[in-house]
Amino acid sequence: MKKNRRMLIVDEDAAQAEFISKIARDHGFEPEHAEDGAAFRDIYTPGTEVIVLDLMLTRVDGIEILRELADLECEAAIIISGDADRRILNAAERLGRARQLRIAGTLPKPVEELLLRRLLDGEVVKPAADSRRINVQVAQTELLQCMEDGCIDVLFQPKVNVRSLEFVSVEALVRLQHPTRGILQPQAFLAMAEESGLINRMTRSVLLKALEQAAEWQKSSLPLDVAVNISPLLLTDLALPEMFSELTSRFNVEPGRVILEITESWLSEDALAALDILTRLRMQGFQLSIDDFGTGYSTMAQLNELPYSEMKLDQTFVRNAAKDREARAIVESSIELGHKLGMKVVAEGVERQEDWDLISELMCDEGQGFFIARPMRSEEVPAWLRHWNTCLGRD
Ligand code: C2E
Ligand code: CA
Ligand code: CA
Repeated sequence: MKKNRRMLIVDEDAAQAEFISKIARDHGFEPEHAEDGAAFRDIYTPGTEVIVLDLMLTRVDGIEILRELADLECEAAIIISGDADRRILNAAERLGRARQLRIAGTLPKPVEELLLRRLLDGEVVKPAADSRRINVQVAQTELLQCMEDGCIDVLFQPKVNVRSLEFVSVEALVRLQHPTRGILQPQAFLAMAEESGLINRMTRSVLLKALEQAAEWQKSSLPLDVAVNISPLLLTDLALPEMFSELTSRFNVEPGRVILEITESWLSEDALAALDILTRLRMQGFQLSIDDFGTGYSTMAQLNELPYSEMKLDQTFVRNAAKDREARAIVESSIELGHKLGMKVVAEGVERQEDWDLISELMCDEGQGFFIARPMRSEEVPAWLRHWNTCLGRD
């Protein structure tokens, strides 16, 4: 076993820290103990591989430490421990992930030996893959160059009706063909696109490709709706509805076939402009979807005021719902809420049979995820559909 793997235990309870240290040594770690938050600041070094962090520290609390670790771009696998309600531990876990930390899991106290051993053996605690590299944003000049060279690419991921199993629509997902880094995922360039204002042009070109494709499928008797992701930053441009309807009529695609997915995580600075734009888009017939539902800030009032026609449940809840009571409760009540407000409800991140069974049991309308299909190139869609129909015995 590899020795000398640095580990830091931040815990005010000396006995628990000693217990964790003992087990950690068995797993090839060399644990150090910080007896409080202040000591943590002295001891922490960037080469640390694993941190076991007690949330309930008295002076500097665990959440503050998570924030500091994020500021330090800490790459350690972090295990969040604590004698707290499981929902608090789960909340801290989500917060850590949202801050781009590698959270290996939670460890309720008193520490259970088996669980700790499992975490220390687990994938996440293995030396970090080069996960940060994919987040390294392309420079603005590079992004602009790629756009001028026509290197914006679009993949399509199917969505199916949960009851009829019919293939109803695709979501367009942007990719960037980078001259040296290959095909890049959105997390490598979206933030830069938004920051530089290039998002406008990028969205236009994604929408163009999606509409072109929708028109082509329509001609070959495959009438699919297409969903396009819209950055909330675009909801300040009052000319957006005209631009979108000009494009749909150019390709002869009904606006009703186009779903605009807008992430929930926006606290719009210009809520009035957003309301203006969304209302006009809806009046023109576009479907409006509230994306990543459950992760953002929408209040009941907003849900009621904004003219959404679809609710898209975020994959973090969908993926956990089969095993986690709280996640299931969120999925279940979101579906009920969506339906009561007259919206279609779509579950994203359907990865396994049990996820599918659950959304089907909970009467979700549509599903999307690796269990059904991965994002694919447009030319692969007909073959996937044949495969899907064969699986269903419908060919
Ligand atoms: P999103 O809108 O939540 O899209 C779903 C993401 O989850 C996609 O990642 C998709 O590939 C991935 N996914 C789908 N099914 C599964 C599953 O079963 N398991 C797992 N683990 N992942 C699944 P992708 O393509 O990397 O996109 C990431 C995000 O980037 C999107 O999240 C969306 O917010 C944003 N994005 C993508 N295309 C565009 C675009 O054209 N414009 C804007 N503004 N944002 C975009
Ligand atoms: Ca989306
Ligand atoms: Ca999502």
